[in-house]
Amino acid sequence: MAHKPNSPVNDARPPIRWTDLASWHPQLTSALSDVLRPGAVDRLSAVESSELYDDDSEWLELVLGEFSGNEKAFLELVDQALEWSRVRTFHGTRTADARSFTHEGIRLHDRPKLEAEVRSLVAREPTLHGMADRLDEAFARTAHLIDHGRCFVVVDERVLIEECGHYLLGGSEFVQGILGPQAARSVLSDCAPTVIEVDLPLSRVPPSQLREFSRTLVGEWAKILRRPRAEPRYLDFSFCLQEPIPAAWVAGHFHPLAVHDPHEGRRSVPTRQADCAACAHASSDA
Ligand SMILES: [Zn+2]
Repeated sequence: MAHKPNSPVNDARPPIRWTDLASWHPQLTSALSDVLRPGAVDRLSAVESSELYDDDSEWLELVLGEFSGNEKAFLELVDQALEWSRVRTFHGTRTADARSFTHEGIRLHDRPKLEAEVRSLVAREPTLHGMADRLDEAFARTAHLIDHGRCFVVVDERVLIEECGHYLLGGSEFVQGILGPQAARSVLSDCAPTVIEVDLPLSRVPPSQLREFSRTLVGEWAKILRRPRAEPRYLDFSFCLQEPIPAAWVAGHFHPLAVHDPHEGRRSVPTRQADCAACAHASSDA
């Protein structure tokens, strides 16, 4: 696990993709083989594990049993091995044109801008005009609904689509909080549920979040060594960033054909509008 302090982010190497084991599991096996005791990978593959839970941190403990130092020293080495990689992450939204993301990146949550957006939606949509006089009071009441100056991306798109579908169906949590989920959806009915793909350099995430990611990845690595499977478990893991995501990190976007609605017991809702202006633009260029 050679650490090169001044290595640039390796853009030529495909990003780590949680759901694609080939993008990280063999590489982690190779890196960990260098720091664990000789023969550790074979012993971890054979360990009796029927008592361990699927997402149990005991998997990390098993790996630490094959390391000569303490947990902190081990995870520092894993951080260093990952630091110059990128990880494919996902941001959920509902938009009529994903080009704003590929051209401008993803902005931080900005409360004044979101309030202006809500005022403009209410002014534009006749069915919402009645809310105009109550907006100031609603804004004051919902201060908790926004993480001002932050931006979130998740590492498992299945969680975004099947467990947190409200971002894809109703857009911003803040706008939904003010208008109500159904009204927010109806004003966005011409927009497509959209997953923005972001290749996030791990050197740019806060150290505590990289550490948590390292811990998660090693636990899953050990479990898959012992219990081979095609896909890792569903992972509810997000990076919370305090700098905007530049356009250069945006790898693309897609529109899921169905989104599970958390307001209706996660019922699968087929997507009616499954493309956007960016898709139309791309196909007219083809
Ligand atoms: Zn599109």
